[in-house]
Amino acid sequence: MTDTPTQLFIGGAWADAADAATMPVDDPATGEILCHVADAGAKDAQRAEEAAVQAQEEWARTAPRVRSEILRRAYEIIVERTDELAHLMTAEMGKPLAEARGEVAYAAEFFRWFSEEAVRIEGGNGVLPDGRNRMLLSRRPVGPCLLITPWNFPLAMGTRKIGPAIAAGCTMILKPAPQTPLSSLALAAILKEAGLPDGVLNVVTTSRAGEVCEPLLRGGRIRKLSFTGSTNVGRLLLAQSAEAVVRTSMELGGNAPFIVFEDADLDKAVDGAMVAKMRNMGEACTAANRFFVHSSVVEEFGRRLAERMGALVVGPGTRNGVDVGPLIDRVGRAKVEELVADAVERGARVLVGGRTPEGPGCFYPPTVLMDVASDSRLMDTEIFGPVAAILTFDDEDEVIRRANDTPWGLVGYVFTEGLDRALRVSERLEVGMVGLNTGLVSNPAAPFGGVKQSGLGREGGRVGIDEFLEYQYLAVPVQ
Ligand code: NAP
Repeated sequence: MTDTPTQLFIGGAWADAADAATMPVDDPATGEILCHVADAGAKDAQRAEEAAVQAQEEWARTAPRVRSEILRRAYEIIVERTDELAHLMTAEMGKPLAEARGEVAYAAEFFRWFSEEAVRIEGGNGVLPDGRNRMLLSRRPVGPCLLITPWNFPLAMGTRKIGPAIAAGCTMILKPAPQTPLSSLALAAILKEAGLPDGVLNVVTTSRAGEVCEPLLRGGRIRKLSFTGSTNVGRLLLAQSAEAVVRTSMELGGNAPFIVFEDADLDKAVDGAMVAKMRNMGEACTAANRFFVHSSVVEEFGRRLAERMGALVVGPGTRNGVDVGPLIDRVGRAKVEELVADAVERGARVLVGGRTPEGPGCFYPPTVLMDVASDSRLMDTEIFGPVAAILTFDDEDEVIRRANDTPWGLVGYVFTEGLDRALRVSERLEVGMVGLNTGLVSNPAAPFGGVKQSGLGREGGRVGIDEFLEYQYLAVPVQ
């Protein structure tokens, strides 16, 4: 912790907030304050904007190979410092160290992937239908970007945006979530060490998100917003972006259905459920929120899932052998408690868990609820905690209709041994991603994103860089 930067990163230099404000960073496992970091206000946002705008032109002209190599070096440094970064993430966010190490690898991979994409930005040319005019197409960086990230994947949500922005030749301001600013500041230090020119990345940590971001979005100099967070905040930022017609990509909330058919391999389904539910303590936009299980296998599935969930060890993420760390804060835990109480009131059976432990920290036990009523609040709320809510179905059409009966459409999981059914059901699910007999879809080489109110655009994959590029068309008449 002692070497971790705690100041704002603006124009390649570390600085206090203009009004010297600071904010605490808490350890969710103990509730104690880990340290204080700079708390940026409107003036700091202006300085960061100025730095990003000033750096844009030269950065856009920088050779793609140079941008690529900076990303590659940063990838290597991140991998070398896996342990250090994992400890930092566990300290500020709570996830067990093994998961934090996994996230470091995942986060680094976005830099490696986009270091490879930086040198493959292609335009085009052609003869237009009249036979005389020629078309030259080039691709140019969209311009200075505002990147806003949530707390649940403090490192990977940053690299998933910073990687393609650097590759495309955009400068940027990163505003991480106030609960987890340290991972982003450590990332800025790594990119500086890797040779990123001053002003290309600026990091403003703040507890005053509106004061910092709204003027940037309305001001007209920021040309792109890339946001990951809740649908409600996404909607607000879309409205703010409308005024200066800022391009936006939105990675928003989910309400993932997890469907287990009668012909599923139950071992695979329970393994998949453990990942889809318990990755990141259930604090993931991809977390299975609604388990629909065929009536012929529901008791067996519930019994096996409860056995596996009940065997998980809950405790501080730094302790050996711990599988489940604390939730992010007391507000997050209170929401989970309320959702479980509501489901139980409406008739759900608690197979395991369901009781908040005494003592410090924001712990909540892995919980399995059976016979959940369709009108329970957790059916249309992201649980964001280690709670599996199981419902029963009998018929394929019926389960598809119920799975799609939500404003969200990020991801769905389908468990069946039948290829026909797997394809048929996947195609009918209104989601951006489907896990077929797997509980994990995230991969830097695949386009991540949702439909409906889960978002706009994709991150990662070949298309991830497109979000940061514009086309320019040159008309060339030839005599
Ligand atoms: P959140 O409350 O929407 O916050 C996300 C970020 O937006 C934070 O940095 C937050 O800072 C900032 N923010 C809030 N209000 C703002 C405003 N008026 N102007 C500018 N920035 C503002 O979400 P969260 O609780 O951190 O994260 C959980 C949510 O993220 C879930 O809904 C989850 O599904 C979603 N998520 C989606 C993906 C995906 O790829 N689709 C991935 C991960 C998470 P403050 O906290 O200071 O307000």
